[in-house]
Amino acid sequence: MSVPAGQHTVRRHNLALVLREVAGPEPLSRAGVAARTGLTRGTVSSLVEELIAAGLVAELAAERGGPGRPASPLRLDPSGPAGLGLEVGVEAVGACVVDLSGAVRAHRTTASDHRDDAPDAALARLASLAVDVMAEAALPIAGATVAIPGVIGPDGVLERAPNLPRWVDVDVGSALSERLGGLPVRAGNEADLAALAERWAGGPADAIVVSGGIGVGAGILLGGALFPGAGGRAGEIGHVVVDPDGPACHCGGRGCLETVAGLEALAGGDADAVRAAGRALGIALTGAVHLLDVPAVVLGGDYPGCGPPLLEAVRAELAARVFSRAGVDVRFSALGPDAALRGAATAVVQAVLADPGRLIVGNGVRATGSPS
Ligand SMILES: [Zn+2]
Repeated sequence: MSVPAGQHTVRRHNLALVLREVAGPEPLSRAGVAARTGLTRGTVSSLVEELIAAGLVAELAAERGGPGRPASPLRLDPSGPAGLGLEVGVEAVGACVVDLSGAVRAHRTTASDHRDDAPDAALARLASLAVDVMAEAALPIAGATVAIPGVIGPDGVLERAPNLPRWVDVDVGSALSERLGGLPVRAGNEADLAALAERWAGGPADAIVVSGGIGVGAGILLGGALFPGAGGRAGEIGHVVVDPDGPACHCGGRGCLETVAGLEALAGGDADAVRAAGRALGIALTGAVHLLDVPAVVLGGDYPGCGPPLLEAVRAELAARVFSRAGVDVRFSALGPDAALRGAATAVVQAVLADPGRLIVGNGVRATGSPS
């Protein structure tokens, strides 16, 4: 599909180009950005002015180095449009705000068991937590993403969540948006968002990132991007069958990975249970690695808390079963159990960085405040 290269489109493209350079690891001046992008200094200056006016870029104090006019290094504005991350867990809700530079500016979670609840009460609790973190961060909020431990269809509607039996066909994004005064809220699968968080934190470009909790999910990263499957539902590793005659699963199936490697099966940290979970994870992952040819597996969510015996059991199983010559790098995530929540907020920030023109040309940024 071709996009007409009108002036508007070119400007929007160039805004993103300039912002990407400013977001890079080294502070650049306007001249530096011009040199790296191939745009003229005049064009860069005018684009930078727009980005500064939109609160996306800030100018640091000028450095006097060599001869000539001192150059002012540019950086992302930490007081600029931020991302709101929200999470509905099986036993908790969480909210956090991540600023443009990727720093967490406010973060709260609260215990709240949703297994027997209809969505309304949980969404009200989550919206109230969101208002609290937005007030604490006191930054303009560009949008929100909500992480959910369930299957999200291509239309953004939660189809089902095996551990939240009353959450069927729920448009969680719209329901939260209504409660937050029209703030745009997208829904995403929690394991997918945790996988993206892993990647944005410098993790491997090709990997299966498993998110272990009461449910078990995975995000599949290929070439640095999330592999969504035909309808955005890829990665449901928790419902890969590891024992056809095994116990019943919440999904309606039998012998799913989740029944052996979910937190309920691991409760108590009994050494035999941990070994069995590691073995089952290794078997399910062997299938995934052989199908997808990924060199790395990251175990996140609550798995790092299970300690080295789990990691060793998964490693041993993959080493024995996968016939890749290079082997598979299996490691624990360093991001902690809130990776999905961080990923949800960072997804908003990444969208702003990828297309700043959307904020400048289009809807503008919502100021932080109480929902109407
Ligand atoms: Zn299942």
